[in-house]
Amino acid sequence: MDFDLSPEQRELRRATIAFARSELGAAAADDDRESRFPARDWARCAEHGVLGWPVPARYGGRGLDPLSTMIALEALGYGCRDNGLVFAVNNHLWGCAVYLLLHGTEEQKTRYLKPMCDGALVGAHALSEPEAGSDVLGLRTTAVRDGDHYVLDGTKWFVSNGPVADVFVVLARTGGETGGAAGGGAGRGRAQDALSAFLVTADLPGVHRTREFTKLGLRSTPMGAVEFDGARVPAGNLLGREGSGYAIFNATIEWERAFMFAGHLGVMERLLESSIAHASSRRQFGRAIGGFQAVAHEIADMKIRLELARLILYRVGWLKRERRLALQDATIAKIFVSESLVRTAMAAVQVHGARGYLNGYDLERELRDALGGPIFAGTSAVQRGILAELLGLSGVLSGAPEGG
Ligand SMILES: Cc1cc2nc3c(=O)[nH]c(=O)nc-3n(C[C@H](O)[C@H](O)[C@H](O)COP(=O)(O)OP(=O)(O)OC[C@H]3O[C@@H](n4cnc5c(N)ncnc54)[C@H](O)[C@@H]3O)c2cc1C
Repeated sequence: MDFDLSPEQRELRRATIAFARSELGAAAADDDRESRFPARDWARCAEHGVLGWPVPARYGGRGLDPLSTMIALEALGYGCRDNGLVFAVNNHLWGCAVYLLLHGTEEQKTRYLKPMCDGALVGAHALSEPEAGSDVLGLRTTAVRDGDHYVLDGTKWFVSNGPVADVFVVLARTGGETGGAAGGGAGRGRAQDALSAFLVTADLPGVHRTREFTKLGLRSTPMGAVEFDGARVPAGNLLGREGSGYAIFNATIEWERAFMFAGHLGVMERLLESSIAHASSRRQFGRAIGGFQAVAHEIADMKIRLELARLILYRVGWLKRERRLALQDATIAKIFVSESLVRTAMAAVQVHGARGYLNGYDLERELRDALGGPIFAGTSAVQRGILAELLGLSGVLSGAPEGG
């Protein structure tokens, strides 16, 4: 086992940090306050190649291998103070581009990936619905074949990048009955075969971006609702085959559940450094507060979480580089890294005292931004259920009786 970064990876890390510090996030606090998408920073990311890091060069990307992509995303998270921008990049890459890369036809990849890499198209993932969040099999959006089109009807909620997105990966029901993991679609075949995945462009008639949600953190990533009202999607925009949507989702989600959190490592490192600096300079009772064991232990725990989070994420990056399955490791990574960032952000606020709590010092924003991690891409509770089921326990997620 080799835990060293290669010279190329070290240079990638250095160059990404330099780029992110000098070019991104200058208006992070204002964009957060105004819930404003940083369009100029997005364009800079496109120029720098960020939007195509994992995409092969023949489709307009940088062609980084998975482990190097992870290292680059960590560096982006470290250097860029705007966590919302990093989250928007991640949604574009892991909610949309990776679906095309893994499941798109040559024609679909050629058509969509280049403009996604060069910033002409913003990607998003439209999965959640008002009545279906954790229970993906319970989603109600329908897609009915009509000649050489599918007609989509339904509502998607909580779509990150939604208000500015040009292309959505949409999961919709092409068979079975609505019902969910506890037994939906039983009357007409397996629930798992009832869903299909589509690439839907925002310019199609019947696709409406109907509302924008305001939220606690990650405010510079706009989040919206998308409604499909008889939207006619060309059959050529089906990803994979009809009925394979749930399998596609499961095969892709391990990427999202790990790579989307690589930036968290960078944020944890930034919070650690800021906490060490403050604990070293802030004096109370005649000495630096870092000399008090209570403060020192908070900082030691931040370091422990960072190093363990890095190990599990790099392991997923390595597994994907070796073209191996990583579902179990990605599930562990999703839980551990997202929850570690919340703990570290809370610890950083505590170490900084009132300065951690006030607006204008960034730390309260870091904490608000961190709180979404244990919810998006599958909640912590659902991830623990998936892990338990991977370990052989049955019915943990669906509540179904054994064998059901
Ligand atoms: C910042 C952010 C960005 C997001 N971006 C997107 C996006 O781009 N595209 C998209 O489609 N969605 C997005 N989402 C939605 C996200 O995927 C859902 O919030 C998530 O899947 C949970 O669904 P829900 O909110 O409906 O909660 P619910 O599923 O209603 O869950 C509510 C609570 O019940 C618990 N629960 C539910 N089922 C179980 C179970 N079987 N066992 C134990 N506990 C359970 C959950 O853990 C949670 O605590 C985003 C959410 C956030 C916060």
